[in-house]
Amino acid sequence: MKTELIFLGPPACGKGTQTAKLAEYLNLPHVDTGSLLRAEIQNQTEAGIEAKTFIDKGKLVPVELVSKIIKNRLSKEDCKNGYILDGFPRSLEQAEQLVKINEEINKNSDYKFNAIYFHIDENLLLDRIVNRRSCPKCGKIYNLLFNPPKHEGICDVCHVELTQRKDDTKEIAHSRFDTYDRETAPLVDYYRKMGVLKTLNANGNIDEVWERLLKVLND
Ligand code: AMP
Repeated sequence: MKTELIFLGPPACGKGTQTAKLAEYLNLPHVDTGSLLRAEIQNQTEAGIEAKTFIDKGKLVPVELVSKIIKNRLSKEDCKNGYILDGFPRSLEQAEQLVKINEEINKNSDYKFNAIYFHIDENLLLDRIVNRRSCPKCGKIYNLLFNPPKHEGICDVCHVELTQRKDDTKEIAHSRFDTYDRETAPLVDYYRKMGVLKTLNANGNIDEVWERLLKVLND
């Protein structure tokens, strides 16, 4: 049976780190809309140029644009056994789009669908955001305070210089939190009512959250 997992939680709740790990563990593709959009920006595509104006303000990119990118990605051969969806849906409208996309892609085949909600103390998030760095080559995420690289500013795996996301500043982070509260947080109730929500305590270090994640998925 196809396994479809989506992840909810505020910016910097640890979803990116855990979902990348889980994708490797379950041998499923990690579909991360933030990274897909940043790749479009890097390649200066029409979609990327449009998306950038929203991302730079901490707002959601228009639903049509992001749904098209997601549909293309989920239709690829490597998603035939399922996927780990990180960062989509981010609004009720996007959740409805996902239902349509899944109907079109899966036709009548069986699939198991769960939404995992990262429940976290929100006071921690700003510190995590402004100290986040990532490797431009492999995408590995570090935190200068909680999970620093072995050598300052350098990726442990690729040995290239780490970069900071342009939207990981204090000002844009506040706007991203507002967007999350207004548009994304209502999805927690939406999936709870559908009976597919699993809640995870996302406070703690990477290993602690990972152990809890595996447990929640098996419950
Ligand atoms: P993330 O890497 O998940 O923190 O996403 C970075 C930014 O990309 C967000 O602040 C949004 O501007 C944009 N973005 C990512 N996913 C979506 C989505 N599903 N819908 C609209 N905008 C998105």
